[in-house]
Amino acid sequence: MADYVIAPPPVAFVPVAGGGRFPVRRIFCVGRNYAEHAREMGSDPDREPPFFFAKPADALLTGGADMPYPPASNSLHHEMELVVALGGGGASIAVAEALGHVWGYAAGLDMTRRDLQNAAKKEGKPWDMGKGFDHSAPIGDLIPAARWPDPTHGLIELKVNGAVRQTSDLSKLIWSVAETISFLSGLVRLAPGDLIFTGTPEGVAAVQRGDLLEGMVAGVGTVRTRIV
Ligand code: MN
Repeated sequence: MADYVIAPPPVAFVPVAGGGRFPVRRIFCVGRNYAEHAREMGSDPDREPPFFFAKPADALLTGGADMPYPPASNSLHHEMELVVALGGGGASIAVAEALGHVWGYAAGLDMTRRDLQNAAKKEGKPWDMGKGFDHSAPIGDLIPAARWPDPTHGLIELKVNGAVRQTSDLSKLIWSVAETISFLSGLVRLAPGDLIFTGTPEGVAAVQRGDLLEGMVAGVGTVRTRIV
């Protein structure tokens, strides 16, 4: 619009496999959604309600681009995750209706400045600077939900420099994709363009400059970035 007083920011997007761009509105992330990861982080996993944090949409890193090692941290961790992209939305979505709001899926990485996150946890402060920093959300191309209609099971894996670091199955999600959408929609009104990072399995660890991260979700696709 002509009356913006500065140039409006570009619309963040995720490339779609086969062509096109999915415009991104917001990025929500689920914490501790696999029992073994909750244990490795020192928590007792149970079916307490899921909790959420967010990243800015412009934290996305697409097309296999390199990820600059972030400032203010000496402990950059990988978290391999299934990402859900919403083409619909609303408030108080029923579990049975939830998957009908999904446009597609991608493989993604919730990169984390673990030292800043741990310090924030200890002091009861927000996680934003541990989680929502620049380039903290590498993501692969999206596939339409029609090509992968059942997100309740499937191998999820991350290799670092060719060695498997994280491996699990989506059937081990504490809160399923449908349950996660339903719960989140009880907290905020979801909208087309929202992404949800659904949580990481066990095996999170630090990476260094030069490391090559290659993740995959079977049936969905891959995510790839090199830390530079
Ligand atoms: Mn995560």
